[in-house]
Amino acid sequence: MADKFDVIVIGAGPGGYVAAIRAAQLGLKTACVEKWIGKEGKVVHGGTCLNVGCIPSKALLEASHKFVEAKHDFDDMGITAGDVSMDVKKMMARKDTIVKNLTGGIAGLFKANGVTALEGTGKVLSKNQVEVTDQDGKAATYEADNIVVAAGSVPVDIPPTPLTDDLIVDSTGALEFQETPKRLGVIGAGVIGLELGSVWNRLGSEVTVLEALDDFLPMVDSAIAKETQKLLKKQGLDIKLGARVTGSEIKGTEVVVKYADGKGEQEITFDRLIVCVGRKPYTKGVIGDGVGVELDERGFIHVDDQCRTSVPGVYAIGDCVRGPMLAHKASEEGIMVADIIAGHKAEMNYDAIPSVIYTFPEVAWVGMTEQDAKAAGIEVKTGAFPFAASGRAMANNATEGQAKVIADAETDRILGMHIVGQHAGEMIAQGVIAMEFGSSAEDLALSCYAHPTMSEAVHEAALAVEGHAIHMANRKKRK
Ligand code: FAD
Ligand code: AMP
Repeated sequence: MADKFDVIVIGAGPGGYVAAIRAAQLGLKTACVEKWIGKEGKVVHGGTCLNVGCIPSKALLEASHKFVEAKHDFDDMGITAGDVSMDVKKMMARKDTIVKNLTGGIAGLFKANGVTALEGTGKVLSKNQVEVTDQDGKAATYEADNIVVAAGSVPVDIPPTPLTDDLIVDSTGALEFQETPKRLGVIGAGVIGLELGSVWNRLGSEVTVLEALDDFLPMVDSAIAKETQKLLKKQGLDIKLGARVTGSEIKGTEVVVKYADGKGEQEITFDRLIVCVGRKPYTKGVIGDGVGVELDERGFIHVDDQCRTSVPGVYAIGDCVRGPMLAHKASEEGIMVADIIAGHKAEMNYDAIPSVIYTFPEVAWVGMTEQDAKAAGIEVKTGAFPFAASGRAMANNATEGQAKVIADAETDRILGMHIVGQHAGEMIAQGVIAMEFGSSAEDLALSCYAHPTMSEAVHEAALAVEGHAIHMANRKKRK
């Protein structure tokens, strides 16, 4: 039997590595097991987020956005950029360097905080034992008073479009293209599909997004979703709603995709296809037989509000449990669980977890949509402000979009905030903090915002809840 720990965390993604660091900070003897093999053949930390998710996708989104700006927007500002071109291989190399620096940084944080990094595949053998099998198949068993499973998720694949080496790929493959495909198909108009579709559309691909649902971004307030759809269409993304992919065929270097829409069976040919139809929990083999940790019918580890599994002392967090598959949700759960293990009171507010789509402009939201509130029988009042009326947005060449605040009609408490606009992902933190503090729309309206900022649109939207917006004509009558 090898060492004994207070806590062993399985998985070093944003859920697991954050849980491990927090636990160590609280004085617990902590180990974190990771098996991800990086491009250099060695174990790397950071999970999906750092290796093939949040960070690499944002590196490509930023580079491709700058390319579009230089090509199309600079002229208007008096800047002559000359012949602007994109070296895709260089863009990818930059992305790889960012990933390498960040994943290496986690190893440094583990050292600084005294977390023991165990390399290999972890398996919960019992409520107090974790087996770790290294790359050579050598196994060791470690004892722990508490175990945190943070095994994450993997892309969903669908039978109509089996992945190939390079023509039909998932999101991970789409982060590795070394040249811009001429005709690119994307299955799924969710967050990842829209982000990856945007990257390649900006670099010159003709992008068609096939989405089975009739509604575009049903989780976003419908006014914001509608405006986003219009803006993405204007950029050249051909988003076909109500289009369910039913089959595919590789013909030489092309992929022929069959889909069914309102008019019947259709066919479309692409040079490359990205399958972005969601992610599923990755729990295969992580829980040993007879341990008693229950999974739900979709394969998620069953947990309560504080991420306790059905076995005392065993916790599970992040993408392998219920709730939105988001890095910051995983990290917050990691902190909560470490605090609980250390004997502190801790809980999370699942109603105030923000989401962001890093298209241009960004789409960001927290809390209820107006339609959610109506469905729940809650009477709401709303205020919206268009960036077209914002001085800073004009200066930034970013007048598209709007900010919307949704408040309880009776109490004025903020129930949701939905934004489409440049830096929406930064601005949404105001909605999160307002909701965490139980603020009213009036609290935001009475706050002093720096001028000129994009955030002033949030201020104006909060003012507009009562018909008090200053920089636009109010639809509601001022009381
Ligand atoms: P993961 O990050 O999946 O980490 C789990 C880790 O556990 C992995 O390293 C895995 O190797 C390890 N592991 C699993 N089983 C074992 C085992 N038995 N033994 C040892 N190790 C094991 N989220 C955002 O919030 N913002 C974004 O902008 C964003 N963009 C994304 C873009 C893309 C293209 C993708 C694919 C995802 C994106 N996400 C984004 C989602 C985000 O990456 C995940 O929600 C997040 O990584 C989940 O964290 P996690 O720690 O639960 O799991
Ligand atoms: P998300 O879960 O946000 O990653 O989004 C995945 C999207 O893929 C959802 O909007 C699904 O409706 C969509 N989707 C799933 N299967 C298919 C399919 N066969 N054809 C087209 N779209 C699909």
